[in-house]
Amino acid sequence: MPTYTLPDLEYDYSALAPYISPQIMELHHSKHHQAYVTGANTALDKLAEARETGNFALVPKLEKDLAFNLGGHVNHSVFWKNMSPDGGGEPTGVLGDAIAETFQGFAAFQKHFTEAANTIQGSGWAILAWDSLGARMNVYQLYDQQSNLPAGQIPLLQLDMWEHAFYLQYFNVKANYVTAWWNVVNWADVAARYDRARTQTAGLL
Ligand code: MN
Repeated sequence: MPTYTLPDLEYDYSALAPYISPQIMELHHSKHHQAYVTGANTALDKLAEARETGNFALVPKLEKDLAFNLGGHVNHSVFWKNMSPDGGGEPTGVLGDAIAETFQGFAAFQKHFTEAANTIQGSGWAILAWDSLGARMNVYQLYDQQSNLPAGQIPLLQLDMWEHAFYLQYFNVKANYVTAWWNVVNWADVAARYDRARTQTAGLL
């Protein structure tokens, strides 16, 4: 039994159209995400093998493989749930108030997050995360699947800015992908993550 498994989506591959095409969704979930799951399990298997044989020569490579592939698995697992065919609009309630207070209003937050997404150099993610040390939200640019993010951050909202996430539909105009994506953001999921993060990580670090 592998440690990590590909989660099912809670909606059909066509559910996020016209904002994200069915072709992108199917390839992204069934091929790209699956590859990260497989890669993470393979890295764990090989690390176990290294411990069994006492041959640790490949540890640096395997640790990079584990971080990259598990990063991909975590990122996509959050990303799928961050989206819904019934999404869009603005957050309300406790999350809406907290975003407005932390980022000088929702409009300023949305511009900040959008800018973070559009200016990633190479492949990566824009992330709104709960910093469990400072007990506050921050926006980050995450490079590749695992870089440029401090430890102790709980992802609340993630946007995949790898070319595989948009190129078949938006080609080189990734700003249009980001604009469209705001229409499928599942704020109910983000609000539930925010509630769990701030109530369950107090004192963790
Ligand atoms: Mn992806």
